[in-house]
Amino acid sequence: MDFQLNDDQRAFRETLRAFVDKEIMPVAIEWEHSGRYPTEIVDKMKAMGLFGLTVPEEYGGLGADMVSFALVFEEIARGWMGVAGTIGSHSLACWMIARHGTEEQKSRHLADLATGARRTGIALTEPGAGTDLQGIQTRAVRDGDHYVVTGTKTWITNARHADPLPVLVKTSVTEPAHKGMSVLLVDPAAEGFGVSRDLPKLGYKGTETCEVVLDGVRVPVDALLGGVEGRGMQQVLGGLEIGRINIAARAVGVAQAAYDAAIGYARERNAFGQPIADFQAVQLKLADMATEIQAARLLTYWAASQADSGKRVDMEAGMAKYFASEVALKASLESMRIHGGYGYSQEFVVERLYRDAPLMAIGEGTNDVQRLVIARSLVSGKNHIGW
Ligand SMILES: Cc1cc2nc3c(=O)[nH]c(=O)nc-3n(C[C@H](O)[C@H](O)[C@H](O)COP(=O)(O)OP(=O)(O)OC[C@H]3O[C@@H](n4cnc5c(N)ncnc54)[C@H](O)[C@@H]3O)c2cc1C
Repeated sequence: MDFQLNDDQRAFRETLRAFVDKEIMPVAIEWEHSGRYPTEIVDKMKAMGLFGLTVPEEYGGLGADMVSFALVFEEIARGWMGVAGTIGSHSLACWMIARHGTEEQKSRHLADLATGARRTGIALTEPGAGTDLQGIQTRAVRDGDHYVVTGTKTWITNARHADPLPVLVKTSVTEPAHKGMSVLLVDPAAEGFGVSRDLPKLGYKGTETCEVVLDGVRVPVDALLGGVEGRGMQQVLGGLEIGRINIAARAVGVAQAAYDAAIGYARERNAFGQPIADFQAVQLKLADMATEIQAARLLTYWAASQADSGKRVDMEAGMAKYFASEVALKASLESMRIHGGYGYSQEFVVERLYRDAPLMAIGEGTNDVQRLVIARSLVSGKNHIGW
C-alpha cells in the first residue's frame, strides 16, 4: 500500500503550491472583497495549462490523472476557492466533450478549451429544478437541421465566459424523463441566448455565477453532444463524478487554509502571558481539525485514484465530497473560534473560508443527496466498504 504521490505528482504539487503562494494568496483578500475578476490569475493558469487539465494530450491538453486533477483544486482552493471556479465546471465540460463528443466536436472545441482561448461551463440547474434534474423544463424542439431551445438556467458558473456552454435540455417529452434528455453545446453568440444577471452570493466570489435565458435559440443539430439524442443524463452523471472529486479537493484546500491560519495565529497570539497554542482547549481544536482534514484528504485521493482505475465512482466520489465538505465547514468555524474577534474581521482570511465552505456542501449535488447515493449503492449490493 502506497500513500505517497508519485514523483510527477509531487513536482506538479510543488509548482502549484509556489504559484498559489506567490500569485493568489497576496491578492485574495483585497480582490475578493472588491468583487474584482481575477483576470491576471486566470491568465497565469492558462499559461500553466490548467484549462487543459481534462483535455487529452492529442488536443493539446494535460490529460491529467485524477489525483493530479485533485491536487490542482486542493492547492488553488487553499489560496482562494472562488478562483478554482474558473476551471471547475470548465474541466467537467471538457471531460464530457472529450469522453462523449463526436470527432468533429472534439476537433472544433478541445484545442481552444485546453489553452483557455475559449472557456466553458455546464448549465444543468433551473429555477425549478436542481437536485431533480429530470424535472428540467428547458425544451429543444427539432426544426430541420436545428433545435429551437427555450428555457432558463440558473446558478451557472462561468456563464459570461463560456463558449460553448453545454446545456442540458429535454429533446423528448414522450420518452421516460432520463431518456428524453440531451446536452447541446450552445454558441453564446446565437440569437436569443443571454446572460440575464449575475447572482449575488455569500462567498465563491471572483468567478461569476449567473442566470441564463434561452429564448428560441437555434442550435445546429451537429451541436448535440455525441450526436445521439437521449444520452444527456448519462453524460452528465459521468461528469458529475469527477465534479465531486473536484469539490472534495476544494473542500480539503479550504479546510487546510483554515487550519494553517489557526495554528499560525495560535502560536503568535498571547493571553495570560503565554501563546494561546499552549492552552489545552486550543490544542484539542487543532488536533481535531488536523485529524479530520487528513481523513478528508485521504478519502478524496482514494476516490481520485479509484477514478483513475477507470471504474464508476459514484459512491467513492460521493463519500469524499460529503465528508470533506463537512470537514471544511467545521474547520472554518473552529479556525474562527481560535482567532477570537479577529476571526470575524474582513482583514483576516478566516471569514472568507467560513463564507466559501458551505458551497461545497451544496454544489455538484447536496450532501444529503450524496448520502442517499452512498446508501443506495451499498443497499443494492453494487458496492461494499472494506478491502
Ligand atoms: C454558487 C453556486 C454555483 C453553482 N454553479 C452551478 C453550475 O455551474 N451549473 C449548474 O448547473 N448548477 C450550478 N449550481 C447549482 C447547484 O448544483 C444546485 O444548487 C444544487 O444541485 C442543488 O439544487 P437546488 O439548489 O435546486 O436545491 P434543491 O434540489 O431544491 O434542494 C433543496 C433541498 O432539498 C433536498 N432534497 C432535494 N431532493 C431530495 C431528495 N430526493 N431526497 C432528500 N433531500 C432532497 C436537498 O438536499 C436540499 O437540502 C451552483 C450553485 C451555487 C450555489
